[in-house]
Parts: sequence; structure tokens; C-alpha cells
Amino acid sequence: MNHFPIFLRVAGLRVAVSGGGAAAVAKLRLLLKTEARIEVYAETADPLIAAWDAEGRILLFPRPLAQDDLAGLRLVYAAEEDKAADACVAAMAEAAGVPFNIVDNLEASGFLTPALVDRDPLVIAIGTEGTGPVLARKVKALLEERLPAELGAVLRGAKALRPEAEALPPGRARREFWSVLFDRALAGEAVPEAAPLLSDHLDRAPAPGRVLFVGAGPGDPDDLTLRARRALDQADVVIHDRLVPQTILEIARREAEIVEVGKTGFGPSTPQAEINSLIVERARAGALVVRLKAGDPGVFGRLDEEIDACTAAGLDWAILPGITAASAAAASLGQSLTRRGRNGELRIITGQDVDGLADHDWAALARPGAVAAIYMGKRAARFVQGRLLMHGADPATHVSVVENASRPDERIICSRLGALAADLAAADLRGPAVIMLGLAPRDAAALAAAPLREVAQ
Ligand code: SAH
Repeated sequence: MNHFPIFLRVAGLRVAVSGGGAAAVAKLRLLLKTEARIEVYAETADPLIAAWDAEGRILLFPRPLAQDDLAGLRLVYAAEEDKAADACVAAMAEAAGVPFNIVDNLEASGFLTPALVDRDPLVIAIGTEGTGPVLARKVKALLEERLPAELGAVLRGAKALRPEAEALPPGRARREFWSVLFDRALAGEAVPEAAPLLSDHLDRAPAPGRVLFVGAGPGDPDDLTLRARRALDQADVVIHDRLVPQTILEIARREAEIVEVGKTGFGPSTPQAEINSLIVERARAGALVVRLKAGDPGVFGRLDEEIDACTAAGLDWAILPGITAASAAAASLGQSLTRRGRNGELRIITGQDVDGLADHDWAALARPGAVAAIYMGKRAARFVQGRLLMHGADPATHVSVVENASRPDERIICSRLGALAADLAAADLRGPAVIMLGLAPRDAAALAAAPLREVAQ
């Protein structure tokens, strides 16, 4: 972001436009929506500008802007439509420390004016940093279409309701009231509906706390379910694993408490008992707790222990499934997880368990055509390789390792069982990785795009 969007107070403050032609008129139309004290400096001014001056809506000075005029200005627009004259205004503004905009000159401007969707007091500013004004207009058109014209009036009506709404307990109850009210407003309903709605909410018993175990998917926010998005939007508290990326956490309500309970195979981790009591304590206090887990919450997520803690505390809970790493990895490989005639079963196994390296039915996994997704397998690769070969697996068996599945930095390492440990060591994996035993990328294009080292057979 080269430009930081903010809403600047201008009510009662001086804003100047230098120039009196079409560019000045266009900016003035925008500025006239504000409560600023607008000054125009122009030797010759468009009749519209003169008329606004006559109506007392602006102050027209029939002379060029001078350095002294800049003292105490909030903003200045250089709208001379002449390169040299605009540069002169910009230089004066710069010297006086007044933010300036040169109309139609993004590069030389100190600030930009965004495209606006105006439902005052709801104002949406759209900017593309000058890269796509056409896109900005399209987004504006989409929003104009979507947002009822009366939304501003509803919002002003809602403001008047605010003191009455204070009767609702703060937190979730109050938020739910506003949420229903604004859902109706977005659907085009008018504000008088608000009064019965408020009394309805006042009669309700406070909603008890609740826990949602939510799958965050493999990392791309587009892989979240709609349910997961809604949960994040409503959560009072989000308790998440380290694997959940920032781009997903940003979907949570800005006021939500966000707590990371780190758990990696290597780094420092939060003891499970502490996580359980945190969930229980927040939900008991009446919060909607989202326990956000990478992938699917039911796959190597210690979900049962957390559910048991909720049940023991008498808390209401629900599971919102997500896309597990194996699904995302198979999709990246262009492969199916099961295939008629190849594998009628899919094993989801862990490389490590409470006792260290995990033991499995190696004989079954070593059979031709077997497919398994090995989670937390980076450190266990050598052990898994040894066990499988010992049980008669073909060293040429395809193994693909998908690191950071579904993320921008995804990598696919194509290997064969006989070279797995060496290939993994060479790949120097930094992100989460799932080892897909028995699968290779489907096509040459995928192979060319991603492999680190293909083992020749
Ligand atoms: N509940 C998660 C798994 C948690 S266990 C799920 O359903 O995906 C942590 C392991 O998941 C990691 O060690 C790694 O093996 C795997 N994993 C999670 N996200 C991943 C990703 N984006 N890419 C590759 N593997 C991932």
C-alpha cells in the first residue's frame, strides 16, 4: 500500500481549490458534500463556481493562490489544468506542510481522492493507487447497486436508537440486535422497524456462550467454508493454531480477542490442558468462541479432548468441517485420493504420535497401489521409508511431498520411496508438508512447475 486510507475531519476547516475550470468544478462537487469551509482561488471562474459563491456555499477569491493563504489550510487541490501552475501550487503546499492533490496527476500528488459510494454517514472509499480507475468505477457500480439508497437514513435513525440499545447487555446481545437491524437495512427495510425489534431483543434471555470448532482449511482464505466465514465474523474470541495464516485471521471481527495457542512439532507449545481451560473459561463468560484449527478440526487436531472439556463444562458446541491438508495436496497433484482398481482405501496417518515416531500397519501400506497421506511426517520420513521397504514396498513407489498446500508458496517435491529421506533433506522444508504416498503429480506440466528433484528410475 503506497497510500494509507483515512477519513479526515474537515468540518469547519478550510479546504482550498486552486483553479476555476472543469477540473475545479469536479472536485468542488465532491467537496460540497462535506462541511468544510471551501475556498476557491481563480482569476476566471466557471459560472457554476460563481453561483456557489453567490449562494454562500464557497468563498471565491478572484486571484491566484498565494503562499500566505496556505497557513491553516487542511487540504489543497491544484486544479489549474496547467502543469507549471499546478506544480507551483504543489510546491507552496509542500513548503507549508499542507497535504495537496494535483488533479489527474497521481505521481506528483501528496494524497489521492478515492472513488466514493456515498450513503452518508456510511461512506465507502475505493482506491486502486491509480492502477485501475476503471476497476474502481466497476466496484463502485457494484456497491451502488447493492446498497439501498436509504441506508444513510437508516444509519442516522439507528444513531438515535443508540441510547435505548444501551439497555441491552453489552457484547453479543447488543451486537446481535444491531446485526439484525442492519441486515434488514441492507435488505432495504426502513428504520421504524427498529423499535419493536429492540423490545424483542430486550425480552430475550442473554445468549449463553458457545464453542465452534472450525476448520480453517489448508491456508487459502478462499478455501474457508461460508459457515467458517460467518463464525469468524461473529466470534467474540478466536483461539487458533500457529498454522492458521494471518490472511484468515483478518476475517475475524476487528474487536474479537485473538489468541494463538502455538503447537508445532518443534517450537514452544501451549499445553493442551491450558487450551481446554481457555476455551471453557471464555465460553462460560458468555463468549462465542471459535476454536480455529488448520485444515479440518477432526484430523490430528486433538478435537476430542477439547470437546470433552466443553461437555464437562456443560457448554454447547458444534463442529464446522474444513478442507484437510490431504485433500488440498491431492488437488495440487491433480490426483484423486481413491481410484477404482488402484486403491479402495485411503489412509490418513501421522508421522509422529505421543510416543515419538508413530507405528502403523506397514504391511498394508507397503502393498502396490496403497495411498496414504502422512501428516507431521517431515521428521519421520526416514523411519517411514525404512519400515515400508522392510515390508516389501517397491522403492520406485511414487511419493509426492506437498509443502504449504494451497498457499502462494506451495512446493511439490516428486520423489520415489527409495529416495524419500534424501530428497526431503535436500528440499529443506520450512512450511507444513504432507507426504502423499503412492501419488505422483498427474501431468508433466505440474511436474515441470514444481519439482525440486525427480528421482530417475
Ligand atoms: N487439522 C489439520 C492437520 C493438523 S496436523 C488438517 O486437517 O490439515 C499438522 C500437519 O498438517 C502438518 O504437520 C502437515 O503435515 C499438515 N498440514 C497442515 N496444513 C498444511 C498445508 N497447508 N500444506 C501441507 N501440509 C499441511
